[in-house]
Amino acid sequence: MKQTLRAIRGMNDVVPPQTAHWQWLEKTIGTVLAGYGYREIRLPLVELTQVFSRSIGEVTDIVQKEMYTFTDRNGDSLTLRPEGTASCVRAVLEHGLLHQQAQRLWYRGAMFRHERPQKGRYRQFHQVGVEAFGYPGPDIDAEIILMTARLWRELGLGNLRLEINTLGTSEERRGYRDALTVYFAQHRERLDAESAARLERNPLRILDSKNPDMKTLNAGAPVLADHLGEESRAHFAGLRALLDAAGIAYEVNPHLVRGLDYYAKTVFEWITDELGAQGTVCAGGRYDGLVELMGGEPTPAIGFALGMERLLELIAANAAGETTEADCYVLSAGPELLGPAQAVAEQLRDALPGVRVICHCGGGSLKSQMKKADRAGAAVALILGPDEHVAGEITVKALRGETAQQRVPLAELAAAVRGLLGR
Ligand code: ATP
Ligand code: MG
Repeated sequence: MKQTLRAIRGMNDVVPPQTAHWQWLEKTIGTVLAGYGYREIRLPLVELTQVFSRSIGEVTDIVQKEMYTFTDRNGDSLTLRPEGTASCVRAVLEHGLLHQQAQRLWYRGAMFRHERPQKGRYRQFHQVGVEAFGYPGPDIDAEIILMTARLWRELGLGNLRLEINTLGTSEERRGYRDALTVYFAQHRERLDAESAARLERNPLRILDSKNPDMKTLNAGAPVLADHLGEESRAHFAGLRALLDAAGIAYEVNPHLVRGLDYYAKTVFEWITDELGAQGTVCAGGRYDGLVELMGGEPTPAIGFALGMERLLELIAANAAGETTEADCYVLSAGPELLGPAQAVAEQLRDALPGVRVICHCGGGSLKSQMKKADRAGAAVALILGPDEHVAGEITVKALRGETAQQRVPLAELAAAVRGLLGR
């Protein structure tokens, strides 16, 4: 048996007709984001490793064990991007996009993390990310959450719940960290191996554990709210008031921490119970210190990322998008009519932009061509025989519905097809 090559585990092809669902999702998201004044930025897939190690934090899962890092032929350490925020900050600084101005930006594309592949968790996955720079107040936090809520409505997702929390400032977190260290040290025997390792380096991350056995212990842990200063409290109260005013339901989850070091103040996640442990479809928060950390002027910032695979799994049932191959299928009776048939197809594409026309290739009887037309999902078959060709006409046959087949002059073809397609 011939041996064929396979894709790397956790890195998936997207093949038709699923690509149509992706395109529909991407288009819907792009339209919603544009509706709030966000503009697209395109970023490279590969960056200097430092872009991530500096920003994400040395003691995070991503930097410690998930990055695809390699040395290129110049001896530089490069990394396939595991997320987009760090690249985005690098890019806005490099292009001076933050001089005297705020920015609302978004990007999309593949991210790479060496995780254990399972449903909803892949090694190449796709995100749409949004970042807003230069807005210090809770107004933008609320706007971003409102925007995601609108997106769920557009996608027909009624069952996502919103969890929010505040992580305060890094100083406030230091006091909290000490309290957590004391608490978890008291219960050292109940920590799993991963959490025990986190205890010394970053006890906050224990709260982020995916291990169900850690739930009870985490539930009894001290909460950050008791360590917050006046400004952080006011910011969070401001966000809550705006969400209340907009009628957005949320739950304050005091143990919601994000996996990355750079977050501060507001963090949020949209979660579904329908995808098991991989239930977070959208996660984000404020990262006021990151721009400065990466060499820029102090700049408040907030962002989020959507997991496209998880969203698609969730909307599988009602995902829209055109999954057929064609609207019209042009058939020809015999090799001498191939050229004229292709000319008819071109004429139709000129007249009806957006209508998908397949001109049959590969020969065969009209009967076998008709089967192909049907399999392509076409609504209309256009049959060019010798008689039609001589008369400057073509036979138009509706493949769905009851309309009788008819011969029409080529000059009237576009109108006839438009009528049958209903557009
Ligand atoms: P998780 O806690 O599930 O590991 P995370 O906190 O690492 O997620 P983020 O870095 O915040 O995730 O990424 C934002 C979103 O991207 C996640 O909420 C999820 O929807 C998606 N995502 C993250 N990692 C993966 C992955 N390996 N495969 C598929 N989607 C992912
Ligand atoms: Mg993760």
